[in-house]
Amino acid sequence: MLELHTPVQYVRGVGPKVAALLAEKGITTVEDLLYYLPFRYEDRLNPRAIAQLRPGEMATVIGEVRTSGLFRTRRMPIFQMTVAQGRDALQCIWFNAAYLRGKFQPGKRVALYGKVEAAFQGRGRLQLVQPQFEVLDSEGEDPAAASLEVGRIVPIYESAARGKLTSRWFRRVIHGVLENLAAEIPDGVPPAMRDALKLLPRREAFWRVHWPEPATPFEDLQAQRTPAHRRLIFEELFFLEVGLELKRRRLRQQPGISFRLDDKVRQAIKRILPFHPTAAQKRVLGEIARDMERPSPMRRLLQGDVGSGKTIVALEAAIIAIENGCQAALMAPTEILATQHYLAARTLLEKAGYRILLLTGSLDPAEKRSARRHVARGDAQLVIGTHALIEEKVEFARLGLVIVDEQHRFGVLQRFRLMKKPAAAGARQEPEPDVLVMTATPIPRTLALTLYGDLDVSLLDEMPPGRSPIVTRRVSDERSVEVFAFVRRQVHMGHQAYIVYPVIEEKEEQPAADQRGSARMEPTEPEATSKLFPEPAPRLTLKAAVKMYDELRKKILPDLRIGLLHGRLPAEEKEEVMRRFAAGEIDVLVSTTVIEVGVDVSNATVMVVEHAERFGLAQLHQLRGRIGRGAAKSYCILMTGGKITEDAEQRLNAMVRTTNGFEIAELDLELRGPGEFFGTRQAGMPDFRVANLLRDKELLEVARREAARVAAGPAADLSAQDISRVFAHLKAHWQRRYGLVEVG
Ligand code: ADP
Ligand code: MG
Repeated sequence: MLELHTPVQYVRGVGPKVAALLAEKGITTVEDLLYYLPFRYEDRLNPRAIAQLRPGEMATVIGEVRTSGLFRTRRMPIFQMTVAQGRDALQCIWFNAAYLRGKFQPGKRVALYGKVEAAFQGRGRLQLVQPQFEVLDSEGEDPAAASLEVGRIVPIYESAARGKLTSRWFRRVIHGVLENLAAEIPDGVPPAMRDALKLLPRREAFWRVHWPEPATPFEDLQAQRTPAHRRLIFEELFFLEVGLELKRRRLRQQPGISFRLDDKVRQAIKRILPFHPTAAQKRVLGEIARDMERPSPMRRLLQGDVGSGKTIVALEAAIIAIENGCQAALMAPTEILATQHYLAARTLLEKAGYRILLLTGSLDPAEKRSARRHVARGDAQLVIGTHALIEEKVEFARLGLVIVDEQHRFGVLQRFRLMKKPAAAGARQEPEPDVLVMTATPIPRTLALTLYGDLDVSLLDEMPPGRSPIVTRRVSDERSVEVFAFVRRQVHMGHQAYIVYPVIEEKEEQPAADQRGSARMEPTEPEATSKLFPEPAPRLTLKAAVKMYDELRKKILPDLRIGLLHGRLPAEEKEEVMRRFAAGEIDVLVSTTVIEVGVDVSNATVMVVEHAERFGLAQLHQLRGRIGRGAAKSYCILMTGGKITEDAEQRLNAMVRTTNGFEIAELDLELRGPGEFFGTRQAGMPDFRVANLLRDKELLEVARREAARVAAGPAADLSAQDISRVFAHLKAHWQRRYGLVEVG
């Protein structure tokens, strides 16, 4: 009898050697094996008749091998096979597949799954290109095992251990596990909750997810939407949310600072405001202020699209802290952005007498030492710097508020650590500072709550007044003459322009690594496997900022004042270029994606992006966010100059279609997938086994609600015993996976 915690080694068909291979995949127990879910299913209960296949569809076909053989063409060996159902025959081809020689003996039955396409020769004839296959009748095989392969809906697993453990191997071993699984397996979901949500019992869910009943709608299976999937997804999300909820509650019990918000503070805030805040800004400041008044530490996420006006809200919060005799720290992801925040803060706050300090890597050691001393003594009231600098080396005299501007980079909070003054022996523990995280990527609320674990969310959903919409156009770089002429006209009208390039210098294999994470390029997509004769990859000759800067300055726009900005310039030079651009001393700023994050020059009305096909959607949206900040009409011109993949096509179209950050984020999430989008590993989020934060939004909402109920304590349909079982289950089964979830 197998229990969930039985080591895989004791499963029939496994043993120590295979167990070692499975361990590489993180599979060490029976339970892990059961969570190794099929990534798709084949309907071998109703396989397709060859005569009814249609070009373009994906199909499962079962037939008998007639002939097979390897053909050498000039370009590559091609393996062909013909399968038959009675009188109907279908051809299959595989490219570069010498390894298939001798695999298919005539008369053997095979199951095939692949895309149906029109054959090259023979009008109207069809073929399967590169299908996946299984040879069904093996010599001397146990008929019971063979019955797992046909006449039902069959689970298909990802093979593992470099192909040593095949889909078929998993199918048989997991089937064996299910047959020998103990009748009672632990289930942490309270019975009443299970009933109310109509969740399958756990054991049944495991069976059904691997071996669906014949009547299960096939689309539901492929989309992982069956009751069995739902049950396992809910469970995974539920325990994650319980863990997060406990963490949130523990934080609320820690001592924080209870800031006072009296008239004096209100007046101080009013004094620094250069404009009337929008209704959204007022509401959000109210939410932040209420948090700050409370005695428990604030952990709040401020979401607002590019240009929605987050900076001023952050500075208002800083005033609350400072007026209460505390220090505030503002951490930016890049040095350029830190510098810009510093300049903005100075214009607004210094005349009101606040002391602001900038801490960047470009200070020399003596300056750094002196700056840190000012921070440690409490002379500096607002300290602005990059994440790295502030996190690692700075001691504050009395830190009350930390503002993290992470724009669209995620997960800073999880790693967020601030040096605190070590408390003297016997001294009272210092209270936790309040934390405000600002992000420009609008993500669905529940996702944000889960991704950021213990953060409350505020949303700036209104743009400051007086903006005119941005016109976005997409043009081929063959028309660059027109584009640059347009730039000139805009400059003659008194405006400024950005021209952005994907790399700093030519012949760079890698995109300019200006800032970790911010200059990431889309990987070139792999050739579709079904392409018959893959073309050689086109040589990459990307236009580069440095070279184009020269051309623009000397040949194309010699009459304009051109500046150059990229990540490899010394920090003082970056600062100087930014300052001159902001002051209007530079007309056209040639740049890499360093300007993507946060740069704010409202007189700039043109954003030209060359090789726009190479940029990610979030990047393009951020770049476009640099313009349209003033009253004048602005233009975003996306120039393409190279092969445009299907994904790139979608990204460019989305940019032309909408300026709505929400829509863009959703599409970006779809195109890149949540793992890539959130960088979940980096963000400290677990890899889910079944769940998918994007696809399972509704279940996540339910899981979150139920988790909050559990954390709140016993209720009519939730006994104390249920609750302690949930906690025990969390501890035993999920803590290992969710590093960030600590159970007290
Ligand atoms: P983001 O949310 O992208 O950080 P910023 O804080 O940089 O946006 O604000 C964008 C621009 O809008 C800035 O130039 C800022 O001064 C201006 N701004 C912000 N709030 C208002 C407001 N209520 N009225 C007018 N202009 C505003
Ligand atoms: Mg900003």
